[in-house]
Amino acid sequence: MADQTMIIGGSPAATAATFGVVNPATGEVFAEAPDCSREQLDAAMESAQKAYPAWKADEAERRARLDEAADVLFGVVEELAPILTAEQGKPLGDARIEVLGSGVWFKYFAGLELPREVIQDDDTAYVEVIRRPFGVVAAITPWNFPLILASWKIAPALLAGNTMVLKPSPYTPLATLAMGRILAEVLPPGVLNIVSGGDDLGAWMTSHPVPRKISFTGSVATGKHVAASAAPDLKRVTLELGGNDPAIVLDDVDAAAVAEKLFAGAFENNGQVCSAIKRVYVPESRYEDVVEAMAERARSVKVGDGAEEGTQLGPINNEPQYRRVGELVADALAGGARAVTGGHPVDGPGYFFEPTILADISDGTRIVDEEQFGPAVPVIAYRDLDDVVDRANATHFGLSGSVWGTDVDRASAVAERLECGTAWVNTHLALAPHQPFGGAKWSGIGVENGPWGLAGFTELQVLHRSKSPLEG
Ligand code: NAD
Repeated sequence: MADQTMIIGGSPAATAATFGVVNPATGEVFAEAPDCSREQLDAAMESAQKAYPAWKADEAERRARLDEAADVLFGVVEELAPILTAEQGKPLGDARIEVLGSGVWFKYFAGLELPREVIQDDDTAYVEVIRRPFGVVAAITPWNFPLILASWKIAPALLAGNTMVLKPSPYTPLATLAMGRILAEVLPPGVLNIVSGGDDLGAWMTSHPVPRKISFTGSVATGKHVAASAAPDLKRVTLELGGNDPAIVLDDVDAAAVAEKLFAGAFENNGQVCSAIKRVYVPESRYEDVVEAMAERARSVKVGDGAEEGTQLGPINNEPQYRRVGELVADALAGGARAVTGGHPVDGPGYFFEPTILADISDGTRIVDEEQFGPAVPVIAYRDLDDVVDRANATHFGLSGSVWGTDVDRASAVAERLECGTAWVNTHLALAPHQPFGGAKWSGIGVENGPWGLAGFTELQVLHRSKSPLEG
């Protein structure tokens, strides 16, 4: 029997089949998740479709429900956080922050306006641009931040008047299913359906005839499949995909201070963040100081089971990703890079990998050019600033990036030259509900958050009222 149930039409939906969920701290299956059948997916789509007309009709009701949902989420931190830690691996404190953050996102969208814009009001016409919901939205999320990334979709999509069928990653289905069960007590039946299963279920969703919009967060490779699957039916898509964020350090920084912040930007969630720092460029004159300070910081980190008190970095979430990080680090070392600290998996059970700082490495190495998505970061020396900006941009990725310097105006001027969705100065990973987030190039299509993210769950409609009399 599954440890959590799917929610279809506001009620728990039992499945004939289940699949195991692994605790990455032990490498063992610790729970069973429901495996959605095609018929159950049809039922979820149908219930979302049935709930749509009433939900779209009453904006005040939607706001009230989302506001209540936020308060409910604030109250279930201690219930959801341990589930999230067990399936995802992150330390309990970080899991608590993720649940709270989900509530913050619901609160923000509950109060966000859906403006009607008057674009003409003269003798001939009164013309407004209004925003209509799509109908049913299919939402698909990854395993690194299951709850907060689901909230980035649920809250704005529902506020705009859509209903939803959402599928979490098969590596981390449980906390999302639990959240769905809790939200079902607040939302009308069918408005939010949560189903779980493997990658096939995602593909069924994107090719299903009911949804008019797909909101997807995951890898570039899957994002391309999603776009292709949506195309024949001209479904709208928002794609939040992978990144290979550069951090460019300028020559006027204090090495110790910047290293502390670079480490935080690279190792948040054990490096498993789409917009984590994934390559650090440091001028030759400051190179050894920054490398050593980052390594010093990495050596002091407590790696362990996220459920244990004092753990700062947990395991990598799943075995394929654990193998991939190991492979990329081994490839770098074989190519002559130096592991200033780390470089190996941790002995024992679970998917633990030593926090790794790689030096004496350059572009053209896989871990510099590809998205590693784990606790290993390459630090690359540079001589010429223009050249390093070109190197930072010489990639299909374009999610975010950062520039670090004491002269903030100079750093900002460099940051503006980065080809990416968010360019930070003297910080990285500063995300907020009111700030649009999305990727340039292969890192995505469209944005989430802020009024721009809300608009992504709507279609424009022009309402043109002629002022000329019908007769005469
Ligand atoms: P993934 O692409 O493997 O899977 C993401 C989701 O897509 C999962 O729910 C999966 O079951 C589903 N899926 C797989 N194949 C599918 C298909 N053919 N059709 C429809 N759905 C399918 O990604 P992941 O490994 O879970 O997550 C890591 C990736 O996500 C990284 O590349 C990371 O950068 C990216 N990410 C991006 C953002 C962002 O906002 N830009 C945020 C977090 C993670």
